[in-house]
Amino acid sequence: MSKRILFIEKSDFFGRATKYKLETTTDFQILWYRSNMEYVTGNHDYTLLDMAIIDYNEGDTYTNSMLDICFKNKIPIVLLASKITPTLQEKMWSLQAIDYIIKGYNYSIDNIIDIITRYFSNNTSGILLVDNCIESRKHLKKLLKLHRYRIFESSNETESLEILKEHQEIIKLVIVGHNDPELNGLELTSEIRRHYSMDKLAIIGVSLQGNHSLMVQFIKSGANDFISKPFISELLYCRVIQNIKVVEYFNKIKELAIIDPLTGLNNRHFIKEAESIIIENSKRHNLVICGAMIDIDDFKAINDTWGHDAGDIVLKEISKVLKNSIRKSDIIIRYGGEEFLIIGNNLDPIHAEKFFNKLRVTIENLKINIGKKIVNVTISIGVCTTEEDNLEQIINIADKKLYEAKNSGKNRVII
Ligand code: GH3
Ligand code: MG
Ligand code: MG
Repeated sequence: MSKRILFIEKSDFFGRATKYKLETTTDFQILWYRSNMEYVTGNHDYTLLDMAIIDYNEGDTYTNSMLDICFKNKIPIVLLASKITPTLQEKMWSLQAIDYIIKGYNYSIDNIIDIITRYFSNNTSGILLVDNCIESRKHLKKLLKLHRYRIFESSNETESLEILKEHQEIIKLVIVGHNDPELNGLELTSEIRRHYSMDKLAIIGVSLQGNHSLMVQFIKSGANDFISKPFISELLYCRVIQNIKVVEYFNKIKELAIIDPLTGLNNRHFIKEAESIIIENSKRHNLVICGAMIDIDDFKAINDTWGHDAGDIVLKEISKVLKNSIRKSDIIIRYGGEEFLIIGNNLDPIHAEKFFNKLRVTIENLKINIGKKIVNVTISIGVCTTEEDNLEQIINIADKKLYEAKNSGKNRVII
């Protein structure tokens, strides 16, 4: 069910624009009211709200009732204010509000979207807290739980590395304390960095105020950042968000680099990423790697006759069929323009011949609607089933077989 966000904003333009952008780009439902008074005096069921973004007017009765009701009903609060004042910061803390937005300063629709989406997706971001002092961990945990992060805790080096190994898919940040001799946070930081690069994990070191040498040593040991105790909660949130964002950006860039935007399949760069896993897996389970190079026959003619857009449709349709035909453990890659590579396991020549011939016939019979017309295409396939543990060599052999398939009349499989 879509989340219901109450949004109090008196500007007609900004209220309308925010509601429109949020509802067209996310699946949040925005309940927009022009004032706290309008909402408080209406007959509303507060329990249906998943978040409230409230216009904060210091001393205003309606604002205060609104905040009290939200707090009592445990509705996450974001405050909209005209300036940062000690009262606002105090209010924010006493209400355990998740954030505040200063009008005209960081007030933008994108910032609002960022705050809301981040809050509701934070439970997919894991943070490991490492400290031998239970009280320190408890304090950090309480603050971070307010933002819905998934928290893992550890009091020593060995346990930390074990937790990281077990939950590496979800943990994006480690916050490491340093209390010599009980906990050597610096050694732990460099040990973590030996196993997890900055695109996988961010590390924040915690030091005591004024201990500049420790701050520098944290960074030199591989931490991304540090925070010194005592800190205010807002600073912690800012640092946590910034560092998690860096890991997410790294992942996004990596994803963009290995995915072909037209077909959604992995591209050639993915081979380098996957090579060691493929080889290791085949060795561990004693499997023979099978590589097949697939090329669409006379594809240039499709482009020349029906246009490049029609060619794109054909590529997308064929990609879909290829992807749906392989097993879950197989890998498919758009190797080049109209060439695809399938890497599979455990296909002896007889089974490979059967499998790829069936695939060839499926494509031959596929009716592709390019808008103005229905077209058919065929594919040629070269397959390598010899026992090789070098992917480059497997691809070379498959490519040679493909060449043979093309030269002996196309629309065929050569093994
Ligand atoms: P063969 O049977 O020998 O493989 O002939 P062919 O025409 O399929 O091969 P050729 O290498 O002569 O032409 C491939 C064409 O694929 C040329 C290129 O413009 C086109 N192509 C490559 N990438 C794309 C793409 O992303 N979209 C479209 N529409 N065409 C593409
Ligand atoms: Mg071709
Ligand atoms: Mg080609």
